[in-house]
Amino acid sequence: MRIDKLLANMGYGSRKDVKKILKSGKVTINGDAVKDGKFHVNPDEDAVVIFGEEVHYREFIYLMMNKPPGVISATEDLRDQTVIDLLDEQDVVFQPFPVGRLDKDTEGMLLLTNDGQLAHQLLSPKKDVPKTYFAVIDSAVTNEDIEAFMNGVTLDDGYQTKPGKLEIIKSGPYSDIELTITEGKFHQVKRMFEAVGKKVIYLKRLSMGPLKLDEDLELGEYRELTDEEVGRLK
Ligand code: URA
Repeated sequence: MRIDKLLANMGYGSRKDVKKILKSGKVTINGDAVKDGKFHVNPDEDAVVIFGEEVHYREFIYLMMNKPPGVISATEDLRDQTVIDLLDEQDVVFQPFPVGRLDKDTEGMLLLTNDGQLAHQLLSPKKDVPKTYFAVIDSAVTNEDIEAFMNGVTLDDGYQTKPGKLEIIKSGPYSDIELTITEGKFHQVKRMFEAVGKKVIYLKRLSMGPLKLDEDLELGEYRELTDEEVGRLK
């Protein structure tokens, strides 16, 4: 591919910015400065060094994050820290975005990628991709709730949810539950519990599609998906 395209794809700026960087002589390929944007480079074989750092070009990036509370799942926000702010600069250059949203106070499994097609597939209502959540509820969750969720509940805006699989881990004045749903309406888990008169007081996503949250990731940490994991998502 052309070196100017590689630089642009890696987020080094507009065509004009890229031209300027090349002109400055700060880009070398196999040790030689390259100033011509039309120069062809083989990203798998050639050593490309930009501003003294060797870059490893690839088109797509796939990340799994254990989202901490207090952080917004968006690429930018005027007030709050976003999940992109938690990424290393070397990953930000690929311009990843979160695959769907978790609320500011929700923790857990968040995928980030720049692969729009995969993101679209995972979020498409037609694909019924299951998402499993762990939640603490402010009261006793009952077998009637399991049945109600299985039949679908009516949210505050009149929307009838698809069947959700509710599992009670511990029922009491506070209950621990797991809920698997195939939709991603705004505040869906919280609103499903509101529909049965209960309140979610803690929410964590455990899995998305075939992938479970990596237990080794502390809150705010992330890692790249393996090729095998990416394969399972597609
Ligand atoms: N459901 C919610 O209510 N909030 C989330 O963050 C995710 C699912």
